[in-house]
Amino acid sequence: MFSWFQALSRTRRQLADAVSRLFQRGAKPDAETLEELEASLILADVPPKMAARFRADLEKGGWEGTQDPRERLRSLLISTLGECPPFDWPRREPVLCIMIVGINGSGKTTTCAKLAHMAKRQGLRPLLGAADTFRAAGSDQLRLWADRIGCEVVVGRTGSDAAATAFDALAAAEARGCNVAIIDTAGRMHTKAPLMEELGKIRRSLAKRLPEAPHEIWMVLDATLGQNALAQARLFHEIVPLTGAILAKLDGSAKGGFVFGIAAELGVPIRYVGLGEGPDDLAVFDPSAFVDALLGLEASIREPHHAGRPDIR
Ligand code: GDP
Repeated sequence: MFSWFQALSRTRRQLADAVSRLFQRGAKPDAETLEELEASLILADVPPKMAARFRADLEKGGWEGTQDPRERLRSLLISTLGECPPFDWPRREPVLCIMIVGINGSGKTTTCAKLAHMAKRQGLRPLLGAADTFRAAGSDQLRLWADRIGCEVVVGRTGSDAAATAFDALAAAEARGCNVAIIDTAGRMHTKAPLMEELGKIRRSLAKRLPEAPHEIWMVLDATLGQNALAQARLFHEIVPLTGAILAKLDGSAKGGFVFGIAAELGVPIRYVGLGEGPDDLAVFDPSAFVDALLGLEASIREPHHAGRPDIR
């Protein structure tokens, strides 16, 4: 599995020069340095207004108590991400139902499999439900994943009703003694209305089977899309009330800064990040680890005496 540090190398490279210039022993960052920092943050897909706010804070000396402007930038970035309490995989009777949404290609199916794998490691018995009945390939892929992980799966026939398949999957989870149902859904983005209709139908259908289901609705976002992923998240959040976001493909992205936009705008916790294509490549979102890897501030320079150390690129 990729470490945070490895996974964020592209975005870090984007920011490296600006961040290292920010720290010149004993010197206040000059206007040019701060301008470069702001531009680099925007290139890494930090929302422009936020980047301007960070710059203004550093400009007016918000960092002085810390002796190192990077330290101030770090805490500004971390506080923007807010609280992301870990999901503790509650044991729900009879079944914990998690609905996964997102556009096709975002990494939904892979993420469903990673989540099932994680649930197994928590001692739960997961079932994967393929409620994307439009794409035969999607269902086949989920079945292959279920074999690989060793978990139950329910796949609807291609062209059959997605909401009915979701209902059947939840019923099967109960019947087969599974205590987590992870429901993969369709994500065609061509037009908003049919998607809205279908996701709403799936949701109602799950609730018919189990009154409080789905207990969680998580959206998978493709981190390589940066701000465009944020636009998609806004749309989905209107359609179904999201209770969490999962950022897939963070390992392949140079636009990790969009995470700040997601956290600030959506107000939903970022649950996990995808750091690769394997079943174990799903990490609990950790705001400090994320920011440290982004800024290149490894644990070694995060010691109390780091202020006089040379920069790390
Ligand atoms: P879906 O259409 O939304 O179900 O997307 P898929 O799960 O089929 O994923 C699309 C592609 O992205 C596949 O090639 C996956 O292997 C790849 N993928 C998914 N998650 C990650 C991730 O976290 N990192 C990387 N590098 N690739 C990923």
